[in-house]
Amino acid sequence: MNESAFIYPWQQDSWDYLLQQLEQQRLPHALLLQGPTGCGIEKFADVFARYLLCEQPASGFPCGNCSQCHLLDAQTHPDFIRVSLEQRDDGKVAKVIKVDQIRKVVDFVTHTSLQGGRRVIVIEPAEAMNPNAANALLKSLEEPGSNTQFLLIAHYPAKVMATIRSRCQRVELPQPPKDVVDQWLATYITDDKVRQRLLGMSGGSPLLALEWQELEFNDAIGEMVTGLKQLLAGEQSPLTMASTWLDVGMVNVVTWWWRWLLLEVKHLVQNSPERPGFIRQFGLSEQRVLGFMQQLLTARQQLESTANPNEQLLVESLLIDWANLRNR
Ligand SMILES: [Zn+2]
Repeated sequence: MNESAFIYPWQQDSWDYLLQQLEQQRLPHALLLQGPTGCGIEKFADVFARYLLCEQPASGFPCGNCSQCHLLDAQTHPDFIRVSLEQRDDGKVAKVIKVDQIRKVVDFVTHTSLQGGRRVIVIEPAEAMNPNAANALLKSLEEPGSNTQFLLIAHYPAKVMATIRSRCQRVELPQPPKDVVDQWLATYITDDKVRQRLLGMSGGSPLLALEWQELEFNDAIGEMVTGLKQLLAGEQSPLTMASTWLDVGMVNVVTWWWRWLLLEVKHLVQNSPERPGFIRQFGLSEQRVLGFMQQLLTARQQLESTANPNEQLLVESLLIDWANLRNR
């Protein structure tokens, strides 16, 4: 199968729905594709964009062989534009989509299609547009001209400016069912135990689980659990540990850490005898563990915000508070 014709199995219903809308000429010119991260919405939008531009779609997918598909492959299609978070000079990914990026879209929309067909604009993630950028887009969304298709992607649709949202038709790409994800992931991660663990830790997000597997995050998880227990036992220093954690990527660490605690609290509530868990082992207060989980969520928000927190200070203060969970 050619790569451009690939969507994930859990997206088939949404795909069929859009094709049906298109066939009946009822496809609104602006769509807001929304759903959780790590489930491949970006890929879905790209394949749909290809479908719209392809000259001879085959079996309900872009053909991968026509001149339009080739232009897209070469990333030189004049009637396609994709706006996303840019790589900054320091190598990190920017946290906002700026107005300059949207001005290019506005320009693009005012010109006629160079290939005589549709024009397609993908913006992801739409919630990353700052207010200036979002405002700049409004007019184009309102009067896009003929044959123009907007595909906006949002993982946190509530954060997308209301005036943008109201101009788009929502298309839900929900969290995929567990069995579908498990079956799909089994071709990449054959070890059942490892797969279940990564899926549990990633909150059922298939692509995040796969990414963690590729990062050998599974090995890192084992080490982090050991380290966290050593901290509680007073056998490790938070500052020494912080330095090893920074290498794994703080958003990954904080996400995993929160998921791990959630599973531990669940086991505690279910009182599983085969799994006493560290909360009981160290005699921690459940309330304090829950409070700490809240701290992790706040940390994650900071990491994803535009504030650019100092990651080293952040992880150090989390580990120090963690080490003190037992004493307070
Ligand atoms: Zn084609």
